[in-house]
Amino acid sequence: MPRNQKRCSHKRSIQNALALYQKQVIIPHCRDCQRPCCRLTDVVLEFSWQHLSAMYQLGHDKKAFDNSLRNGTGPTYIRKQNDTYYTHGSPCPAYDTTSGQCQVYRKNIKPDNCSDFPLYMDGKMIVVDKRCEAANDTELLGQLEKLFNKLSFTRHPDTQFPFLIYIDFTLQKPGSDTSKH
Ligand code: SF4
Ligand code: SF4
Repeated sequence: MPRNQKRCSHKRSIQNALALYQKQVIIPHCRDCQRPCCRLTDVVLEFSWQHLSAMYQLGHDKKAFDNSLRNGTGPTYIRKQNDTYYTHGSPCPAYDTTSGQCQVYRKNIKPDNCSDFPLYMDGKMIVVDKRCEAANDTELLGQLEKLFNKLSFTRHPDTQFPFLIYIDFTLQKPGSDTSKH
């Protein structure tokens, strides 16, 4: 199999491993989390207008809403850049602050970046967002190294945002695998 095809199939397997880590380690911690991401104190959600207006129940008047953002009478936790809206600094409207549950769990309206947080693939890199207190890049790296002994992993923090840890992977050259198995 050509090397880039091999890399694609490894990428899929790694995505599955990330989903498993999410299910086994991250999600069980959410109910005890001291700094829930759904409060949007750290995390930023990204929306199209249709998605934003449905999620925040803003009605249909995009022009009036955009004007309110421009003149400062709109919600300060929503900003717009080009045609994308970003929300940050006020709890997500789907977050039940009493139960700590997401009210749109498994619904189409749930933003994609909620499901990915705090682990996702960015191109050929694994990204671990350490703003989630349950995300342990050392533990995850250890699990990946056990699962994929034909791959070599390297990790480094983002230079601008050190809470983002990148983990890159490459195929080891034949004969360079020191594993006894
Ligand atoms: S920050 Fe992490 S542990 Fe806390 S609620 Fe979000 S995903 Fe769960
Ligand atoms: S949609 Fe659900 S998971 Fe996403 S931020 Fe809101 S409450 Fe949290």
